[in-house]
Amino acid sequence: MARALAVVNQKGGVGKTTTSVNLAAALAQAGKRILLVDLDPQGNATMGSGVDKRTMSRTVYHVLLGLSELANVRVHVERGGFDLLPANRDLAGAEIELVGLQGRETRLKAALEEVAHEYDFILIDCPPSLSLLTVNALTAAQRVLIPMQCEYYALEGLSDLVGTIKRVRANLNPELEIAGLLRTMYDPRNTLSQQVSQQLEAHFGNKVYRTLVPRNVRLAEAPSYGVPAVLWDAASKGAQAYLALAAEILGEGQPA
Ligand code: ADP
Ligand code: MG
Repeated sequence: MARALAVVNQKGGVGKTTTSVNLAAALAQAGKRILLVDLDPQGNATMGSGVDKRTMSRTVYHVLLGLSELANVRVHVERGGFDLLPANRDLAGAEIELVGLQGRETRLKAALEEVAHEYDFILIDCPPSLSLLTVNALTAAQRVLIPMQCEYYALEGLSDLVGTIKRVRANLNPELEIAGLLRTMYDPRNTLSQQVSQQLEAHFGNKVYRTLVPRNVRLAEAPSYGVPAVLWDAASKGAQAYLALAAEILGEGQPA
């Protein structure tokens, strides 16, 4: 049965999508069966996987609304070696349309349960909000991976996110746990980066992944080629970090 991992942070630009796509490819490379769910109307995980979001007539939107079966909407990403449930701007309307529907928070969970036996991991790339879409991800997942930039305001947003996780745990998904905080775009020469990083370790202890993802231009370039960086330039520092993260998640039996 798949372990479902929601990649969540209500801030934009912290590395959620980069993490989702590269972790999907890295875990696939390690022989794991992976489904990557793009749950952001921006469709960046879709494009970053090399799938043209504009040509997709059926997406995660149709699955959430009950208009299509997940099995008929997912696509196989040959290069990355994983399956993708794509998204595009259609999903922007889902928030409003879901509100009136029964089980609005559990729609993704119900859809994923149908295919969970086919995968080792399901990764859910969330939008930059704590909206109904993110609540669907948190309800469907067992674990939450929180990418964060080590900057001054990073910790501030974290308490809202932890609050949302607690509410979802209390009302919808009692088994939900934080898998780990992932430090992204890390610059070891920046003193503030170091300080925030140390604060995170002090507060969250072993809930902080040991792997640090450095700021690395290859990670930023790869999406324009539609190839995960772990394949585009496997030797780059960024790719190496995501390969190490995959090993960390698989290795020590950390419940991811
Ligand atoms: P989010 O999904 O949280 O909005 P993204 O993964 O899209 O964040 O990252 C935001 C931007 O930063 C993108 O242009 C991405 O290519 C770039 N980026 C992400 N991680 C790194 C990194 N470690 N080094 C350099 N650029 C990065
Ligand atoms: Mg994103």
